[in-house]
Amino acid sequence: MIKTVKTVDLNGKRVIMRVDFNVPMKDGVVQDDTRIVAAIPTIKYIIAHGAKTLTLMSHLGDPAKDAEKAKAKAEKDGKSFDMDKYIKGKHRMEPIAAYLQKKLGKNATVVFAGEDGCYNKKAFIDGQKPGTVIMLENTRFHKEETSSDEKERDKLAKALAEYGDIFVNDAFGTAHRDHASTASIAKFVPVSVAGFLMEKEVNYLEPIVTNPVKPMVAIIGGAKVSSKIAVLESLLKNSSALVIGGGMAYTFLKAQGKKIGKSLVEDDQIDTANKILETAKTAGVEIVLPVDHVGAEKFDAAAKPVAVAGVNVPDKLIAMDVGPKTLALYQKVISKAKTIVWNGPVGVFEFDAFAKGTEEVAKMVAAATEKGVITVVGGGDSVAAVNKFKLASKMSHVSTGGGASLELLEGKKLPGIEVTRCRDYFIAGNWKMHMTRAESANLAKALVKSLKGGKHRYMAAPSFTSLETVGEILKGSNILLGAQNCAAEEQGAHTGEVSVLQLKDLGVGVIILGHSERRHIYKEDDTLINQKVKLALKHGFEVILCIGETLDEREKGKVEAVCKGQTEKGLAGVTAAELSRITIAYEPVWAIGTGKTATPDDAQKVHKFVRGIVEKLYGAAAARQIVIQYGGSVKGDNAAQLMAMEDIDGALVGGASLKPETFAPIAKFG
Ligand code: PEP
Repeated sequence: MIKTVKTVDLNGKRVIMRVDFNVPMKDGVVQDDTRIVAAIPTIKYIIAHGAKTLTLMSHLGDPAKDAEKAKAKAEKDGKSFDMDKYIKGKHRMEPIAAYLQKKLGKNATVVFAGEDGCYNKKAFIDGQKPGTVIMLENTRFHKEETSSDEKERDKLAKALAEYGDIFVNDAFGTAHRDHASTASIAKFVPVSVAGFLMEKEVNYLEPIVTNPVKPMVAIIGGAKVSSKIAVLESLLKNSSALVIGGGMAYTFLKAQGKKIGKSLVEDDQIDTANKILETAKTAGVEIVLPVDHVGAEKFDAAAKPVAVAGVNVPDKLIAMDVGPKTLALYQKVISKAKTIVWNGPVGVFEFDAFAKGTEEVAKMVAAATEKGVITVVGGGDSVAAVNKFKLASKMSHVSTGGGASLELLEGKKLPGIEVTRCRDYFIAGNWKMHMTRAESANLAKALVKSLKGGKHRYMAAPSFTSLETVGEILKGSNILLGAQNCAAEEQGAHTGEVSVLQLKDLGVGVIILGHSERRHIYKEDDTLINQKVKLALKHGFEVILCIGETLDEREKGKVEAVCKGQTEKGLAGVTAAELSRITIAYEPVWAIGTGKTATPDDAQKVHKFVRGIVEKLYGAAAARQIVIQYGGSVKGDNAAQLMAMEDIDGALVGGASLKPETFAPIAKFG
């Protein structure tokens, strides 16, 4: 969950906000104001809620690189080149400040902080009248902004942090960049939150990767497979169908042994295409490739379109668009979707003669939106296409970020978003060795109903024998399927054990490991638990790693030593990337199933200590993000008090998870 500007008190505060005002400029004139307009709701909100000052920062182009290129071109063409004039017309923020003033009208006063850069502006900012909007000069005039050296980035970030008590990031288009003004600044301000544009982008794009409303259809087009491998792999996980169009479709068709004429192809990506086709087959995802085409002899706007009725493209033709049979196929697939994500055109839509396929797709997606389907368009070219066909307003969401939306769809964590994230509460039920399949099914059905629309993350872990039945019921719900244990080996002669491969086959997403009953009754030690943790992570599972002291250990003052040892040993060899799939559950053994709960203050002390251990192992950012659940006689009447503590991020619940009327109040706290 990201924390937004709505959750903080702005009254009397100095706000520093990163916006993405990287708009096309010509001779100091704004050519397209989409990104400026997109930031205005957050700007107005901040002023209306009493901020003392609002300082805006943005990059505009890439001054050093752009100027170098323009100079080289001028030299090549034998023309003179005036660097100052060039920079002034293309990279200075003063015209943007003036443009913003026009847009805000009487709602605010906008002042430009000066061409001398972003340093030493505190006195200037503090000297402004309350409610003033200050526009800083282009952040990329300073090489520290984009430096790969963290210390250099921190130098600029510290200077910028001086201008605000609160950092607001609303620059979604730059959220994939780990720069001084997008991410590093968060280390030096007390509070970092997201603006409304960022919030909307994340709320539409993130669920596509994490938990979409199913069935989901993904339409992926564009020229090259190589630039879309990660997004194809990521979307395969949640889609029922993957429509592959545009130039990249011909690498797939060639991989299938079809004739592609002179169409665009990446021969070095044929193996990748085959792998993606195979993964889709195993996962039961329908792949939709063109079955007919519109071709041309030349790649030219004026080229004559030639209809190709079959899948094979004649030798002398380049496929430029999809044909009518393909469009009929698209319609059939799209009509089954509850979510549609579209990234990349299906033909050369920039040339009018070859734009029909992309225009028809845009119309189909727009019609689906009208019927209540969630439709998300992300990525530069498909956004340009919906704008060209004047259908942007007919989509649920059209992303303002090219690279950022692509990386989010690839399932990556974006630095500019991560700094605004607060931890999600995660409430998990451990059903232990209770209930028959029928009883488990009844409980699962009741939970699906009562937790629908619940605002936290949920998981239910039935016994192995009920996993398949419960898994079927939880499919498409907001409750993850958990297992209570797994074997330490992948497969083989291990009588009585259950392997990660078997759990994967049943659709399990999370495995509880190191539960105190496994540690104390079945004598599992840290080495064995760590082996299981690593195996589960290797196979893509999330893990809830349980830790906690016995009563004897508590009485002997060993709480910290025990928790430290179990955390460090449990996580040994776990990479920083894998840590994002770990939840730690602090469960004092004396509180499990006994009705005795640690007081919120006592529990908080241990949680804070454990977070400190994670910080030592993986750094501050990882420690801020890791979810630490509390377990031990959590009930409806103590859940809210426990969860109110700074470092308690959820609960692992045993006894009270066995009935909907005792679990739902915990799950729905707050
Ligand atoms: C547990 O077994 O993980 C647990 C916390 O149980 P209970 O909630 O019953 O104490």
